[in-house]
Amino acid sequence: MVDHYVQIKQGVRAAEQGGQVHNRWHPDIKPILEMSPGEEIRLETIGYDDYQLKDTDDVEDVKKLDLSRVHPITGPIAVKGAEPGDFLVVDILNVESLSGIGYSAVIPKIGGILRDVYPDPFKSVWYMKNGNKFAVSRHVPGVTVPALPHPGVIGIAPSRSLLESWHKRESPLYGEEKAYPPYPDTALPADPRIAKEAARTVPARENWGNVDIKDLTIGARLFLPVFVPGGNLSVGDLHFAQGDGEVTWNAIEMDGRITLKVGLWKEGYKKYGGKWPLYQPGFIRPIYGRWLTFAGLSVEGEKQYYLDSTIAAREALRNAIGFLQKLGYTGSQAYTILSVCGMQMKIFGIVDVPNAGVGIDLPLDIFDKEVLNKVSDLLGQLR
Ligand code: ZN
Repeated sequence: MVDHYVQIKQGVRAAEQGGQVHNRWHPDIKPILEMSPGEEIRLETIGYDDYQLKDTDDVEDVKKLDLSRVHPITGPIAVKGAEPGDFLVVDILNVESLSGIGYSAVIPKIGGILRDVYPDPFKSVWYMKNGNKFAVSRHVPGVTVPALPHPGVIGIAPSRSLLESWHKRESPLYGEEKAYPPYPDTALPADPRIAKEAARTVPARENWGNVDIKDLTIGARLFLPVFVPGGNLSVGDLHFAQGDGEVTWNAIEMDGRITLKVGLWKEGYKKYGGKWPLYQPGFIRPIYGRWLTFAGLSVEGEKQYYLDSTIAAREALRNAIGFLQKLGYTGSQAYTILSVCGMQMKIFGIVDVPNAGVGIDLPLDIFDKEVLNKVSDLLGQLR
């Protein structure tokens, strides 16, 4: 039995949830409940798309997606006695799907690190099977994705000065569409003052937020610095599974239910003395026996970049996608597989000037026999 349970109306958009879902960061958003340190809470959450994506085979919903409605997050939850300088200690006890359906989209102009290469909309609908153990999609045949459930967004309210510093540092990027300015029209809460000042949830920041870390799964412990009295914790954007970097901008996105234990470490943030939050990764991980790693260096065409790991990651991804295309997948399907399947991305080189190096570990165990036969045909020398 949990101490608190916040339920949503399934299938209903955030604006009609009666005030327990918000989609912006602001210090004055009123908590929906207060809990004591050490208590457990279960929260139901809407998917990042605010129920705009549908279980269909066309992409009309992707084309029409209103991204100013992301991310509907449930909360905030105040913790008794929490004050600036403390850490909230958040244990992730469980994450599960609510409707049993998830979505992964490649969204034009937004679609991740290779959006210039894949400008067309694509959507895959995923069904969770065997009590949320794995997911399959008719839009990406031959692939079974094991559960790696985690929250995409988990964060706490900023102080007023922190909110101001975000606007100050991000506003020079607004014009180039490299950051999202406040957008009051679809802000929740709709209170005009808060809507005008509040920060969008897209980037991760000092309050954590949309970190999209696949390792924040069951068993993870997060240390979140408190900036306002009560801390004011919110969570949403649950993912069934994701690869490192969430490369298309989408995991397998779902509505869901997350269970947390929330503790308080008085003056923990002050004692720690660092700037960014800390976490201990969760202990749920699919057992993959066979991996194949694709590499990329910071060279694009003939152009040399200096220790640029983003360019190296793009190169590694393009190599992996090229390989998956030889197995019969379209580019969009391949890009999606790498974004949702628990792929591991690592920087293997960051000092050997001028080239940074990135490796992308693709788990071969996600593929069915027919696909694996094609892998053997292509790469007969695999051990
Ligand atoms: Zn997400």
